Amino acid sequence: MQLTWKAALFASLSGFFAASPGIFMFPKLSEAAAQQAVELQAAPLTIAGYHGFALRDGAFEMPNDGRAFVLGVPTNVTADVLRAHRLASNKFAFSLQPLLVRTEKRVLLFDTGAGRNFGTGAGHILSSLARARMRPEDITDVFISHGHGDHIGGLITPEGRLAFPNATVHISRAEWQWLRSMTNEKAKSDYFIGQHDELITAVTPKIATFDPDATLIPGLVKAVDIRGHSPGHSAYMIGSGRQSVLFVGDTMHHSITSVVHPEWLIAFDGDKPIAKESRIARERLWAQSGQRLYVGHFPYPGFGTIIRSGKGFVWHPLR
Ligand SMILES: [Zn+2]
Repeated sequence: MQLTWKAALFASLSGFFAASPGIFMFPKLSEAAAQQAVELQAAPLTIAGYHGFALRDGAFEMPNDGRAFVLGVPTNVTADVLRAHRLASNKFAFSLQPLLVRTEKRVLLFDTGAGRNFGTGAGHILSSLARARMRPEDITDVFISHGHGDHIGGLITPEGRLAFPNATVHISRAEWQWLRSMTNEKAKSDYFIGQHDELITAVTPKIATFDPDATLIPGLVKAVDIRGHSPGHSAYMIGSGRQSVLFVGDTMHHSITSVVHPEWLIAFDGDKPIAKESRIARERLWAQSGQRLYVGHFPYPGFGTIIRSGKGFVWHPLR
């Protein structure tokens, strides 16, 4: 399965973002268009009452071939669902957007994007960070949802140095144990981590592991154990009460198929039945409570809620 994922990714990483810098540099861009272009890369958001930014890292696509993303569903059935939501029916498009949250004393970053792991279509977090007028040295805490290449790749520079040199890197104990114990070859072939050994060496002094559902920064960040995607996959609750925002990691991937059909199995999930159960249960819970969500692979900026629609659910962007 992982080989399929790998092959599909290589086939589909389309250089989506490679063309984008030209948009920003075009000399005759109107002020309004320039502002929009900046927002497309670092959209300002209010996250649990704090200033936040959706930092665009890039995008990638996968074919609707019954193997690369949705499993066990005829491709024409999947195509009908995509088409019904006015999307191309032959592929799945994913965005990639880590989240930045600024408080008085700290600058928090949730996941780090793909670094060099997904080609030129991703790995743009540092330029997005600059557009948010922040420097890599300003980040005090990085929270990793899980150890796949599109979430941890941005932890190091191409030279293998820490991209956020002053940050503590929070990751669940189970995920860190799993990540550090895999070989360089397996990391590359199965999980799209191109510089595994360099990454482990660089980040080890900065790592702070935690147990499931631990409070990490009192009143500000709490881990939320959501099983299935990887051995120690963790979401993060930012703030509390009605204004709180849950950074869901890869509990969900696609804003249509993951939400409308949470029961469909996903090729990327390490434990597919448990991931499916998690998705179904959480979706119901989040729709009931109106929980605000931040989803790193949903259409940019990935901030919204799940709402009921008929007998099922739909994604409702808040911005
Ligand atoms: Zn991912």
